[in-house]
Amino acid sequence: MNGGTHIVQEDLALYAMASLRGEDLTAVSAHLQSCAECREELKAVASDLTALGMSVDQQPVPEGARQHFMDSIRADVRPDSTARTVPAIISFAKRPAKTAWVPWAIAAALAVGAAGLSVKVNTLREQLREQSLLAVRSTEENVHSQRVLNLLMAPSAQRATLTATKTAVVPTGHAIYLADRGELIFQGSNLKSLPADKAYELWVIPANGSAPIPAGVFRPDKGGDASVVMPPLPPGIPAKAFAVTIERAEGSSMPMGPAVLSGAPTSGE
Ligand SMILES: [Zn+2]
Repeated sequence: MNGGTHIVQEDLALYAMASLRGEDLTAVSAHLQSCAECREELKAVASDLTALGMSVDQQPVPEGARQHFMDSIRADVRPDSTARTVPAIISFAKRPAKTAWVPWAIAAALAVGAAGLSVKVNTLREQLREQSLLAVRSTEENVHSQRVLNLLMAPSAQRATLTATKTAVVPTGHAIYLADRGELIFQGSNLKSLPADKAYELWVIPANGSAPIPAGVFRPDKGGDASVVMPPLPPGIPAKAFAVTIERAEGSSMPMGPAVLSGAPTSGE
């Protein structure tokens, strides 16, 4: 399709992490609808993302680690790689025929902060160097990856942008939620750091008026990024809204603290 040009892997990574916006998102979505090859590539990207998410502790990135990591990427990146270190603008570029998936592309996307996955970067580097991500994955992980991909691609998924009403640096959150399966991906950015005895907690507000459902406790990294991927949720509960509150560090079963983000879905049913 498109005269042999395809979506570069890094943009697929951003798409898989729901970090594309506006025209970029529209362009990638349209291409994916018509290009089986890129859909396959997206599947591989989602699989690697999931492997990262499952294999790396979700901890704040140490001070300076991100820059250190980015420097190392620039030093290590191969000339024929399609990875770019600043994935700001979407681009359709010719992809080398059936290259092995480039973990650096994912790592770069993760580290840039557009993604918001909070990882121990140094640990990740070692894992990438050992190419452990290229090892054969268990069936369980593949099933999980497929579910992540299905959620991202599902036309009936509810999608919401969560925003604060009044602050200088505006925290935002993006939620993708497939009510039928109780599957959710959330990414927050510009979140203020919290004292050690506090944490953010994500909530699904059911459309049927029942009590808010806890959907994950998280803390942002130094850059204010955070994510919640596939928290355990009951299936079959459409959301009226999503919210993030500040709770005690171990989380609450009901929202007790102040709400910092909230938003209603704009699509899906
Ligand atoms: Zn394509």
